Amino acid sequence: MSIGRPAPELPPLSQDEILRYSRHLIIPEVGVEGQRRLKAARVLMVGAGGLGSPIGLYLAAAGVGRLGIVEFDVVDETNLQRQVLHGTKDVGRKKVESARDRIRDLNPHVEVVAHEAWLTSENALDIIREYDLVVDGTDNFATRYLVNDACVLLGKPNVYGSIYRFEGQSTVFCTAEGPCYRCLYPEPPPPGLVPSCAEGGVLGILPGLVGLVQATETVKLIAGIGEPLVGRLLLVDALSMQFRTVKLRKNPRCPACGTRASSPPAPRTCTRSSSPRTPAAR
Ligand SMILES: [Zn+2]
Repeated sequence: MSIGRPAPELPPLSQDEILRYSRHLIIPEVGVEGQRRLKAARVLMVGAGGLGSPIGLYLAAAGVGRLGIVEFDVVDETNLQRQVLHGTKDVGRKKVESARDRIRDLNPHVEVVAHEAWLTSENALDIIREYDLVVDGTDNFATRYLVNDACVLLGKPNVYGSIYRFEGQSTVFCTAEGPCYRCLYPEPPPPGLVPSCAEGGVLGILPGLVGLVQATETVKLIAGIGEPLVGRLLLVDALSMQFRTVKLRKNPRCPACGTRASSPPAPRTCTRSSSPRTPAAR
């Protein structure tokens, strides 16, 4: 599976780009065609915070042609412990502007599209429609479910990640063959049940670990290489430094992507007896 245009329609690389991406071009699995796929790709990042920082920096460095950023927040001093897209000089600035400046400096070949907005049910479809895939770096359940449902409706892969304290998760939702977020968690938890990073804290390095898994999956999906984390949930425990994956299945009764009626409430489809917790923060 590769995302985007057929090979004959891919944009050519300039001499500058050939030089810049030379370490990609000599990898057989990427090569010139893979790099042209990256250049043609349109990726929407939801959030420019802890997860969005490594995602944005590395996707830009890797040569993703268009990076959309949905973010309404302003850089706060407490962000700097993990949100490495932003610097001390950016405190008080809008995150979309800070992110755009940093990414332009890192790679001027990347077009950054700033969506300075909350993602809502009114604008989500219109924004997401313009992109090939979505990388979810949100810190709240409302946005996470909205991203999921919009991606199901539009048929866009949703590269998911979440973090809390020392633990993180990542997978790829909303592909034709794989499950979506609601297959795993059909409904949001009651408000206040799952603490956020602001409430429970997060190791500043953790979004780097998980965000780079998301960036890696994004590049693989665009280039059509390797085995994406479709139907597999990666669980990261930084304290024990253990990475494990659990299988996920599409739920035919899923309220978003299911093919059968969704009532009574859909069961969770994680194949393990204990479903993984769902960290809420970014
Ligand atoms: Zn589903």
